[in-house]
Amino acid sequence: MPEYSIGVDLGGTNLRAAAITTSGEVLSSISGRAELSAGRDAVISDMVAAVEKLRDQTGSGLVGIGMGVAGFILIEKGIIVGSNNLPAFEGYALRDDIEKRLGTTVVLENDANAAALGEKWIGAGKGVDDLVLLTLGTGIGGGIIAGGRVLHGHAGMAGEIGHVTVVPDGNPCGCGNRGCLEKHASATAISGMAKVIGLGADLTSEQVYKLAVAGDEKARRIFEAMGRYLGIALATLVNIFNFPLYLLSGGPLPAWEFFAPAMLEEARWRSFTFRHAETKVEKAILGNEAGLFGAAYLPIIERKK
Ligand SMILES: [Zn+2]
Repeated sequence: MPEYSIGVDLGGTNLRAAAITTSGEVLSSISGRAELSAGRDAVISDMVAAVEKLRDQTGSGLVGIGMGVAGFILIEKGIIVGSNNLPAFEGYALRDDIEKRLGTTVVLENDANAAALGEKWIGAGKGVDDLVLLTLGTGIGGGIIAGGRVLHGHAGMAGEIGHVTVVPDGNPCGCGNRGCLEKHASATAISGMAKVIGLGADLTSEQVYKLAVAGDEKARRIFEAMGRYLGIALATLVNIFNFPLYLLSGGPLPAWEFFAPAMLEEARWRSFTFRHAETKVEKAILGNEAGLFGAAYLPIIERKK
C-alpha cells in the first residue's frame, strides 16, 4: 500500500477532498457542496465524513490531512481569523477540532498558498523552489513559495498580493485600503471596468473576453488596463524576491493574449531586476485542482521538516 495524504479544499461553495500518494497520484476523490447555511458544525461533520470515507477506501499508509481554506489563517494556532466566504469559522480552532475528531495530523493553510504549493509540487512550478502564484478570480489570491515551502510571515498572513496597492487613490477595498490589485485586475474588476466605460452593465469577465476576441476596442482596453496593474504588482514582486518564476491562474487566463503584453511591458520598465535577471511569467497549469494537490502536499512536507 503506497503512502498517501488526504487534501481537503473548503471554499465558499464547494467542499472537495482527495487521497493522493506522496508522489502525486490521485487514488480517489470526493466532491460536493459546502453546506455553509447548515452551520459550522455541519460543514465540519461533512469534511470529517469525506476524509473518513477516503481513508476507509484507501487503507493504511495515511501520512496526514492537509486543508486549504479561504481566509486569513493564524498558522501556528490553526485558526481562521478573517474569511468573507466562511464567516462562521471566524476565530474557531478548526485544526485542533478536526485533529481530535480524526486522530491524525492536520495542517491548515490558506487556499491561495495551498494552490501555489500544488503548482510547485506537480504543476507549472515543478522543480522550481522559489515562485509566486497569483490566482485571478472574484478577488486575487497570492501564494509565495520560497525554498520549496510556503512563505508565511510571522503570523501566517504573508502572500496577500491581492491587497498590494497599485493605484494610490484607487477603488475602495473590503480590507480597508484603496487601489488594491484585486480591485483593478481581478475578474470582478474586469466586469466593473466594463460598466464604468459603458461596455455593458452586467458583463462577466468571460463576456468581456469574448468581445475582445471579436475585436471590440473597449474590451481590449480593459484587458490592457488589467495587464498594466498586474505588471505594477509583478515589478514589485520581482524587485523584492528576484524569483525565477511567477505564475498566473484563474478565470481571466484565456485573455492572456490581451493582457500579457501590457503586463510584461509594465513589469519590464518598472523593474531593473526584471530586465537583467532571467524571469519567467507563465500560466499555471493545474487550474482548480492546484489547491487540492497543495493541501495534500502539506502533511508530506511537514514530515520532511
Ligand atoms: Zn484590499
